[in-house]
Formats: sequence, C-alpha cells, structure tokens
Amino acid sequence: MPTTTCGYCGLEIDVDQAYEHVAEHMHERIPFVSVYNMRAALVRQVPVGQYRAEFEIADPQPPERMLFAAVRRAGGALNIPGFYPISPALARWIARRAPRWVR
Ligand SMILES: [Zn+2]
Repeated sequence: MPTTTCGYCGLEIDVDQAYEHVAEHMHERIPFVSVYNMRAALVRQVPVGQYRAEFEIADPQPPERMLFAAVRRAGGALNIPGFYPISPALARWIARRAPRWVR
C-alpha cells in the first residue's frame, strides 16, 4: 500500500487511511502556522458538524518574525505553502495572548 505523509502531524500513513486520519485532526484544534502566497498566519481548524472543519485565524496575529522563525525551524520557507508546527516561542505567545487556543 502506498503511503503519504500527514500534513498535520508528519505521520506516515497508508493512502487508503489518509482521509480518516486527517479527519481526526479536525477535532484537535491544534494551532499551526499556515503558509500561503508568501504569507504566514497562525491558524487552527475548528470542526463544523461531523465531517467538515473551518480554519480559524488568530486575531491578533503573533509578530511576523516569530511566524517566519517557526516555518524555518520546521524546514520550510515562505515560498513553500503548507502547514507548519508551532515553535516553543509561538506556544508561549499563544499561552499569553490567545489562552482560549490552549487545550
Ligand atoms: Zn496526522
């Protein structure tokens, strides 16, 4: 069975289980750094009903340099769109500035 890498947690998963695996993440509400169109933002997924999730964008946003550092730390770059894990610095920022995003 071919495998793919989960874009959320980095786990290697069988392709035929990918949908179910990703659906599990919808309910975790984990913050990520989303990179798209050369911009970075702190986001999380919020479930809407059973099989759908929407992105919630943190407001206010952390300082850009903190977002860029997290992307670099994860081996990414602003010209590589995707979701990147938060850094310890971002985790501290979230605890201070967006406490309701802490599970
Ligand atoms: Zn995953």
